[in-house]
Amino acid sequence: MTYVIVEACIGVKDRACVDVCPVDCIYEGEDQLYIHPDECIDCGACEPECPVTAIFPEEDVPPAQVAFVEKNKEVFNSETPPGRPQR
Ligand code: SF4
Repeated sequence: MTYVIVEACIGVKDRACVDVCPVDCIYEGEDQLYIHPDECIDCGACEPECPVTAIFPEEDVPPAQVAFVEKNKEVFNSETPPGRPQR
């Protein structure tokens, strides 16, 4: 299990989640932020910090957003993986 960032983050990238993640596993892509599925320790600290409710535990992702579970994994295998969040 891991936490996942879904569609609501696109174009927002508030980054409040980044400040509370104890293991710095939230990365920034072109359109949204992503949680690295192998680095997340499932602490849940980021979830309440998101102002647009874009973060869910993997098993609680709304049905219409389940594609984002795979997107959060695959993006790290792409040629341009997400990097450290920019301020
Ligand atoms: Fe980071 Fe915890 Fe959120 Fe995982 S659940 S992304 S470890 S703050």
